Amino acid sequence: MNKRPDWDEYFLKLAMLASERATCPRMHCGAVLVKNKNVIATGYNGSIPGDAHCEEVGCLVVDNHCVRTVHAEMNAIVQAARRGHSVDGADAYVTNMPCTTCAKALITAGIKRVVVFSDYHDTMAMDFFNKAKVIIDRIKMPEASIHYDLKNYSSAR
Ligand SMILES: [Zn+2]
Ligand SMILES: [Zn+2]
Repeated sequence: MNKRPDWDEYFLKLAMLASERATCPRMHCGAVLVKNKNVIATGYNGSIPGDAHCEEVGCLVVDNHCVRTVHAEMNAIVQAARRGHSVDGADAYVTNMPCTTCAKALITAGIKRVVVFSDYHDTMAMDFFNKAKVIIDRIKMPEASIHYDLKNYSSAR
């Protein structure tokens, strides 16, 4: 039987699941905003509503970055804004270290803690997080598989 994931592992796994919806072949990211152990919003990097996907028409590269997609963290914040949910004081679970722009957006949205399992080369993010006293928790990447256990629980069949 598999180990029951703790909260951090659980929400990071949800972020990994969200990343499956990403549409830019350069990077697949996922983000989940959590408050009082409740998911407020999720996001992945994808095109703006109505635009073509990078995977169909290619990336829109400016200065070596694809600018077509809205990043996962930004999409999560925007989804919350769109539906009128406050993210003030929330934790952000993200699959990749946020870029500088997303870091600033998370800070300004009131995110108090960021949980991440991987690094990103854009180190300005860390400077901004430190300045804003946002807690960065790096944990080991949760197992990249989901155990929907049909064998050990009889009523799941
Ligand atoms: Zn792209
Ligand atoms: Zn970003």
